[in-house]
Amino acid sequence: MLKGYVPPYNATVVQKLLDQGALLMGKTNLDEFAMGSGSTDGVFGPVKNPWSYSKQYREKRKQNPHSKSGDSDWLITGGSSGGSAAAVSAFTCYAALGSDTGGSTRNPAAHCGLVGFKPSYGLVSRHGLIPLVNSMDVPGILTRCVDDAAMVLGVLAGHDPKDSTTVHDPINKPLVLSSLADVSKLCIGIPKEYLVPELSSEIQSLWSRAADLFESEGAKVIEVSLPHTSYSIVCYHVLCTSEVASNMARFDGLQYGHRCDIDVSTEAMYAATRREGFNDVVRGRILSGNFFLLKENYENYFVKAQKVRRLIANDFVNAFNSGVDVLLTPTTLSEAVPYLEFIKEDNRTRSAQDDIFTQPVNMAGLPAVSIPVALSNQGLPIGLQFIGRAFYDQQLLTVAKWFE
Ligand code: GLN
Repeated sequence: MLKGYVPPYNATVVQKLLDQGALLMGKTNLDEFAMGSGSTDGVFGPVKNPWSYSKQYREKRKQNPHSKSGDSDWLITGGSSGGSAAAVSAFTCYAALGSDTGGSTRNPAAHCGLVGFKPSYGLVSRHGLIPLVNSMDVPGILTRCVDDAAMVLGVLAGHDPKDSTTVHDPINKPLVLSSLADVSKLCIGIPKEYLVPELSSEIQSLWSRAADLFESEGAKVIEVSLPHTSYSIVCYHVLCTSEVASNMARFDGLQYGHRCDIDVSTEAMYAATRREGFNDVVRGRILSGNFFLLKENYENYFVKAQKVRRLIANDFVNAFNSGVDVLLTPTTLSEAVPYLEFIKEDNRTRSAQDDIFTQPVNMAGLPAVSIPVALSNQGLPIGLQFIGRAFYDQQLLTVAKWFE
């Protein structure tokens, strides 16, 4: 839809980086309009995970009698900002930006062995970021270590008159993290609902070892309940597709990018342009969203989903009010999977499920960071996620740095 389109202004995040002397190398591939969790649906083709070619992984692959060899034998990066993750992971750049509406920065970070940071909603301007779900979107940061993420955040954070949801500068720039030598005053919460049957046993055991490490250093580690977690995926689906139906209306063949050359009627031109310009994921979401927004469905779906979103957000408030400083969770259900496995039809549901640990955070507007903690038996990176109170981004990153 936006092929060949050159925006007439820079996004605020881009301008801020330029103002500080950053060199911008280019734009990276992602799922079309940031819809996805694999980076397999981009117009430039799927993004390959650089870890697919690591020596250790190739050796393991060879030993597995079921593994397919050939051109398609590579791993997904996760998504939707998989191109950004691949670029940082392959050492082609220092840092990259992503778009995080339901986990799109943290998910590929986990699969590519990186730090993926989603700041608090309202800390970083969305001006110039193509909206997916306006009330959940946040520009995300992908780097190789926590200090780098803090440095980029220091440049990006702050009020922007062009984004009325940004708050007035709660961070003193530049953001330098102190070394947190003592975690004994911290209370770490472990949400019991995040122990889902689909979670890989390797990630589960790393998660509990991480909790043990905090405990052995004197931190208080307690189990907490986020009881509405299981409604998050369906709730997100209703809210996301409804906002997509509205947001995508601007791509009508008149104002931006692609226009189908058809002169029967304006309506026919709109329809043909959108049929040609959007992939089936985007078209599917527009259709679902319009269904949820129909007059007879609006109360039953959209309004209800908004109420459920409030309950999900309140779960976090209750956990933090009970004294928890930071929550510790897995980032993804498994390590990166081979492309051929990911695109199997029956995996579509699984791919939506993949966001289970990351999406609720966006509903609540909280800061969260995924950091690489170990390599799996297959030789692939595994990430764990820390979630903080709203606008306690600095504290969150300090804890993540201690753990790193
Ligand atoms: N996987 C989710 C979706 O497809 C989240 C995407 C994102 O964070 N941009 O909507």
